Amino acid sequence: MAEVRLRSIEKEFSGGVHAVKPCDLDINDGEFLVLVGPSGCGKSTLLRMIAGLEEPSGGTINIGSRDVTHVDPADRDIAMVFQNYALYPHKSAKENMAFALRLRKIPKAERERRIAETAKMLGIEELMNRKPGAMSGGQQQRVALGRAIVRDPACFLFDEPLSNLDAKMRNHTRSELRRLHKELQTTSVYVTHDQEEAMTLGDRVAVMKDGVMQQVGTPLQVYRAPANLFVAGFIGTPAMNLMPGEANNGRASLASGFQVSVPNSLSGPITVGVRPQHFRVATDNDQGAVELTARLVEPLGDLADVHLEAADGTTLLARLDAEWAPVEGKACSIVIDRDRHHCFDRAGQRVQ
Ligand code: ATP
Repeated sequence: MAEVRLRSIEKEFSGGVHAVKPCDLDINDGEFLVLVGPSGCGKSTLLRMIAGLEEPSGGTINIGSRDVTHVDPADRDIAMVFQNYALYPHKSAKENMAFALRLRKIPKAERERRIAETAKMLGIEELMNRKPGAMSGGQQQRVALGRAIVRDPACFLFDEPLSNLDAKMRNHTRSELRRLHKELQTTSVYVTHDQEEAMTLGDRVAVMKDGVMQQVGTPLQVYRAPANLFVAGFIGTPAMNLMPGEANNGRASLASGFQVSVPNSLSGPITVGVRPQHFRVATDNDQGAVELTARLVEPLGDLADVHLEAADGTTLLARLDAEWAPVEGKACSIVIDRDRHHCFDRAGQRVQ
């Protein structure tokens, strides 16, 4: 077990791509941290630097009390799980799991004990003599996980390990990873572009964009108080509605017709964010309702996603109680749930 500490770590590839700008990050002992961001944001490069597969252009990496910045990957006491499983095709599941232990000269009895225990934990005992070609994707990924677990490393590094699985298997393996982490409590860094995966798996999530760390926090912190417009738009499904407006004396008028309270410090152009779940159909007692036209209604069962159009042409998405959802083409009165809006200044930074 170990904490991972990154200080001013950065990577500039030859050719001038600054994939990771200087970044500080502490991953606590036993924590599951998810690095999340769109394709090309630098998350894999950051993970590969922790693994030792990519030489940083600057900064330091500590695992536990050791500075491993220039240590060989094999000597970092980490285990990596990739999306393409990377199992040896000619070895059985058991031989795949035993291989790294053999290299480390772990005695046979201890090897057998660890493999049997891990196979049981993962429910893959019956696969032990099968080769990867005779296993499904989900089974191969479990063997790949098993191979990482038997090594009992200080830290697990996962690079999009679920992205080759179908939706059902992905959900199943995701729950399993969560359960395994509770049991093993090994420090883990997990890369994904899928914000839902990040929110459900991470003790904390670190959101990246263009090589820059945008926000690090628990899933709820990042969801409830996104640090800037990028995080606001990236985290949460369906995505937050972002509406331009003008602030003055603690109030803002939005182009879509809504009026909201804002911090007194804000004036001039701002952006107000409202999650689709935080609109509702107005009742007679509501003040400040705005008439919007329902352009498309997508029933979800108890709820409905309603695409609305404001008089100025702004389009908004509201997730409404299906019972009250308007009919397509009709106008309806909508309010924002009290204080459930987010304010961003003209630079796109959150203002409380
Ligand atoms: P993805 O989810 O698509 O893998 P990512 O967020 O993991 O994306 P990285 O793979 O870390 O992103 O890449 C970050 C940036 O660095 C990209 O612009 C990429 O093109 C660039 N890059 C990655 N590897 C190299 C390399 N070996 N040489 C030059 N540029 C690279």
